[in-house]
Amino acid sequence: MKEIGILPCSGACNVGMLSNKAVVNTLEEKENTGFVCALGLPLGIEGIIKNGKSSDGYIALNGCKVKCASKALKSADIPVDEEIVISEKYGIEKNSDLRSEEKLDKIINDVKKLVDELQKD
Ligand code: SF4
Repeated sequence: MKEIGILPCSGACNVGMLSNKAVVNTLEEKENTGFVCALGLPLGIEGIIKNGKSSDGYIALNGCKVKCASKALKSADIPVDEEIVISEKYGIEKNSDLRSEEKLDKIINDVKKLVDELQKD
């Protein structure tokens, strides 16, 4: 089965934290998925880049349209096979509520579906 790397932007706002929560939940429920550390890639941290490149497919989970998770993958020449922009896809306005779980179940389901699709290819 293909290994899928998932990268949340982990931004310091509701949608950034939702990206993190969605990835953690997906990892618990889907086999052959891995957490790609967003910050280490653009910083050029060798071990993190090496780890990050070990997957067969990649999903970037962005809180907002700035798309930091997608950009972090691209900065390390890692292909973005699928990406989600939470604020746009789910109509969630960015705010400072770090504990928000707004539409979290729906986001998790959608990330799991993307994992299924990439593992199918
Ligand atoms: S994508 Fe948006 S929410 Fe996520 S870290 Fe970047 S600016 Fe913050």
